[in-house]
Amino acid sequence: MDIVRSFSNFVFGMGCMGCGRSSEWLDPWLCPACRDALVKEGRGPKHPNEDTLCLFPMQPLTRRLVHALKYGNISGMASYMVRRSSLRGQGDAAEFFGELARPFFFVPVPLHSSRFRERGYNQAERIASALASVTGGKVCRWLWRRSFRVSQTKLSRGQRALNVTGAFRANLPGELPPRGTVFIVDDVFTTGATTSACVSALGRDFPLPVKVCTLLYDEPASAVMDLVADLRMEWEVF
Ligand SMILES: [Zn+2]
Repeated sequence: MDIVRSFSNFVFGMGCMGCGRSSEWLDPWLCPACRDALVKEGRGPKHPNEDTLCLFPMQPLTRRLVHALKYGNISGMASYMVRRSSLRGQGDAAEFFGELARPFFFVPVPLHSSRFRERGYNQAERIASALASVTGGKVCRWLWRRSFRVSQTKLSRGQRALNVTGAFRANLPGELPPRGTVFIVDDVFTTGATTSACVSALGRDFPLPVKVCTLLYDEPASAVMDLVADLRMEWEVF
């Protein structure tokens, strides 16, 4: 019965998005226990490499929230997660940002246009705008995505990385800011192929330091199913 109640609470919007239980203390998505759990996860951000910061590890709770952000059109979710990460106060993420030159420019990974039409929004833009609002930076749409007619799902991981290499093009302003740090922003970091392709698209002579910031880090091995589902939509729908 508990499972049925949890599910119906979730579906009808009365339950916690983390545990599914109804609570009068929803904020509006999580009960106090799940909110505390989220804040705790945020204290352990991931650095898959020295230039990349992932605000949360991939856990059932964080996965559910990002899923809601990507597919549920919950517009405040990006901001909700960013504000509960260690970017605020004395946290690990705040330290990472604290060492970098300001101002900050957040460049969202663009969605494929067919996907944008279907979904109506780009979750990476919402994350970029939440990061900009918390750090005092700004969102810059400096990248766009080219169309490909090759299905990513039929390629091996190496071929896929290669295929995504030319997927982005830069659309830079005539005059770039003289100083600051650029962040490529995405929802999940897995193999890094997408964000690397974005960094490359900015060009070898790009004058500002470029970092990567995502909401989640997913181990490549456990990400395979998600990645396949994601890329099937990304590359086969035209
Ligand atoms: Zn809960």
